This record gives sequence, C-alpha cells and structure tokens, in this order.
Amino acid sequence: MKTASILGVHFHSITLPQAVDYAMGRIRARQQGYIVTPNPEIVDLCRQDTAFCNIVNHAALVLPDGIGVIYAAKILGEELQGKVAGIDFADALVAAMAKEGMRLFLVGAKPGVAETAGANLCAKYPGLVLAGTHDGYFKDPLTVVSAINDCGGADVVFVCLGAPKQEKFIAEHMEDIHATLFCGLGGSLDVFAGVAKRAPDIFIKLGLEWFYRLLKQPSRLGRMMKLPLFMLVVIKEKLFVRKGTHK
Ligand code: UDP
Repeated sequence: MKTASILGVHFHSITLPQAVDYAMGRIRARQQGYIVTPNPEIVDLCRQDTAFCNIVNHAALVLPDGIGVIYAAKILGEELQGKVAGIDFADALVAAMAKEGMRLFLVGAKPGVAETAGANLCAKYPGLVLAGTHDGYFKDPLTVVSAINDCGGADVVFVCLGAPKQEKFIAEHMEDIHATLFCGLGGSLDVFAGVAKRAPDIFIKLGLEWFYRLLKQPSRLGRMMKLPLFMLVVIKEKLFVRKGTHK
C-alpha cells in the first residue's frame, strides 16, 4: 500500500471504501491489528513522543483524519487520496460488519455514552452484535481487558479515549484481548450517542468542520491554535528539509 510521509507519520493513501474492504479482509482472516486516524494534533504529538510515533506507524492502517493532513500532503508533494475521517470510517465499517453479523465492543467516553452509542448503532445497522461496552474513565486498564474477554471477545473494538491514551492502550493490551481489530477513534462515541453533533454537511464539504467545532466549543481554541503552527512546520519542512529532493 502506498504511503505518504508527513513529519514522520506514514499515512496510507487509500479511499474510505478501500479502507473498509481492507479492514474486513483482516477481520475475516483473524489477523490481529489496529487502525489509527491521526489529525494534525496527533502528528504533532508524534513529533514529541517517539514511542507514540512508533505505535502510530505500526498500525495496519494510518488514515488521514482532517483537512490539515490533506493540506500538509499537498504542500509536501505527497500523494493522498483524500481525507478519511475516523468517524466516517467507523460508520462504514460498522455497516459492513452488520451484514456479516460481527461483534463490536465499545470502549470510551463518559459512563453511559458507549451504551447509547451501541444501541444507536444496532438500531441503524440491524445484524450488528454489540458484544459489550466500557466507559473510558477506568483506573485499571485490566478491567477493560477482562470485560472484553469475559463477554466472549469481539471482532472489532472501538477504543475512544482520545490520543495518545487510546493508541497506547491498544499497543499495550491488544495481545491479551480476544479481538481482531482495534480502532482508535477519539470522540466518535459522543457522536454516535448523539452527545456531540457533527458539523452540517456544508461545513464538512468546505473543509471547515474544525471551524464549526470551534464555534460550538470556543474552549477548543487553545487546541486549534496548534493547526496554524502545524502548517508552519510543514512549510518549513518543505522549504528547508526537503529542498532539493524534487518533492
Ligand atoms: N475520554 C475517555 N477517557 C479519558 C479521556 C477522554 O474516555 O481518560 C474520552 C472523552 O470522553 C471523549 C474522547 O475520549 O469522548 C476524546 O474526545 P476528543 O474530542 O478529545 O477526541 P478527538 O475526536 O478530538 O480526538
């Protein structure tokens, strides 16, 4: 699979349907692994934390979540086939899982949210089996490991604890869990549960979902100021590091 390297993170150049097909193939083959969906904030974390960056780059799929990653690829002359938002990937994967009666376990968010998210997904996609849920505010990660194993395991586990917690949880505990595919999906359970709303389509189409989130939740401003800084680092890389590489 082709990759696009952005500040040390190796994204896969893949469309949403291709990503779902690939994931389904791995689940059917019982090939254990995980999927990550880095946005610019996560790329930034990778630059500061080599161990975390290694975890991200060892994922079965590294999907470009966020318009900032797409702009960065364009600036750096790297080829990506477009944004694959974690939430869109999750929704499409669940649709495909439901057709084959697969089992999904949800980990993350405040108590009660994962249950509502699961119920909503089961209503939307008949055939889906909700293996179980666990909130994201646990003290001992082993309670989550046991919860998944005790309910008979799952084909897929959505781990929604925010980065880098979710990726580190997956890398550390995956081998002890009876499940095939793990997906780190940030705030997705809040969206599936209806606790958080996604931006109207027009914002998404214009690449302005970040702006909508900022309007709804001005406290995100601090986090979002990292985006222009991220673009500056990308431009610096293009001008000074890759100069002469014809990229
Ligand atoms: N969260 C959690 N456990 C924690 C910290 C966060 O389950 O210890 C959840 C939080 O409730 C939210 C999600 O992780 O549902 C992270 O959301 P955020 O908006 O930060 O993620 P993004 O989608 O922006 O990566």
